[in-house]
Amino acid sequence: MDQITKGISNTALHLALHYMENNPEENIPKVVDALLVFIHDKKNRERLIAAKRVMKEKDNPYRNLIIRGFEELQPIVRKRFVSNFVLNASMLGSERTQALRDRYDCNIPWAILIDPTSACNLRCTGCWAGEYEKTDSLEFELMDRVIREGKEMGVYFYIYSGGEPTLRKADLLKLAATHDDCMFLAFTNGTLVDSEFSQALAELGNFALVFSIEGFEEQTDFRRGSGTYRKVLEGMRNMREAKAPFGFSTCYHSKNVDSVGSEDFLDFLIGQGCMFGWYFTYMPLGKNADTTLMTSADQREYMAHWVRGMRNKKPVFLLDFWNDGQYSDGCIAGGRRYLHINAAGDVEPCAFIHYANTNIRNSTLMDALQSPLFMEYRKHQPFNKNLFQPCPLLDNPEALAQMVKDSGASSTQPLDYEDIDELCAKCTGAAKEWESHANLLHEQYS
Ligand code: SF4
Repeated sequence: MDQITKGISNTALHLALHYMENNPEENIPKVVDALLVFIHDKKNRERLIAAKRVMKEKDNPYRNLIIRGFEELQPIVRKRFVSNFVLNASMLGSERTQALRDRYDCNIPWAILIDPTSACNLRCTGCWAGEYEKTDSLEFELMDRVIREGKEMGVYFYIYSGGEPTLRKADLLKLAATHDDCMFLAFTNGTLVDSEFSQALAELGNFALVFSIEGFEEQTDFRRGSGTYRKVLEGMRNMREAKAPFGFSTCYHSKNVDSVGSEDFLDFLIGQGCMFGWYFTYMPLGKNADTTLMTSADQREYMAHWVRGMRNKKPVFLLDFWNDGQYSDGCIAGGRRYLHINAAGDVEPCAFIHYANTNIRNSTLMDALQSPLFMEYRKHQPFNKNLFQPCPLLDNPEALAQMVKDSGASSTQPLDYEDIDELCAKCTGAAKEWESHANLLHEQYS
């Protein structure tokens, strides 16, 4: 176990976790008090104190989510969540990343997104990885090296996407076991999540899944292929029975907002056992992108209000990737909070921005963070004063075009090498339409 957790686990952590298991409602505030002894950062202290308050409010949805965590997950999952995610990734690790940001004057991330493989057993309409080669993959040793370098920087949170990450189950389980001080999460189409894999995840405790689902059966199978919905539910059932942690990820687009933005759908997913949910919107990546799937400004605004409403009501943790800029001070890419390493090894600022100067096969993480495109991101973030317009592609397309040109970055989409001006042109109309809606949201929520 890592030095950070070791320092705490030898003293207060084990005792506090033990108390927590016996009577979470009463003892979580005691755990918080124990942790506060080790936490000096002001923001982190405020977060812990807020958690203590939440446990006293009977109707607070986050309190009810925590109670669900005690009823529906294995004890090892709770232990790893506290030690790996709360302490290592979110508190103590971030103190280290901040020190490095200051020392090297570059972004240092909180999380790293890695594609173990670009291969996938499905062919989904409008997949953001659709223009990558389907034969690329990162070997175990390379992913292990990235995680080791990341930990040196204080990064304890690793997320997998693809391709379908579960095609590499054995390697991913081994990485989670090797780095048992880190938290892992994999976006999955869910079709390969059998009971054996679910059981292995439940035993590890530090590896959660995010099932992609696009609505009920008709909407999910429309983008992901016939029969996918039923397999997703089967995968969720396997995870639920194993008491392993999981959530959902939904891409809202012009044809499914009513369905995925409904209380029925959210209640259904909570009933399946989802602890968290991640909403994305459709991005027109690739020369053959179907731009009619892009949401209208009205639909995007509806989702911003709807997600905020559900947060006050439902025992589930929700994120809305493009409408939550106010909580992250805008765009988190370019290593500011995260970066993306695709299955060819290209180090991209974001999963949706397929341009890079560096490849992890012949550079270090620090080289990538100091590469021209990442430094452009650092120089220009946030890309808009209104944090409801965070994205350099979707909301400020001229900003991305300029950064890619100034940095000399190349397209990482070997199937079409999409030109940056052509990509940005597809977003110009939507960005203009969104501006007035974003201004209203800013007035209402900021
Ligand atoms: S580049 Fe756009 S999609 Fe990526 S993190 Fe920034 S705002 Fe989000």
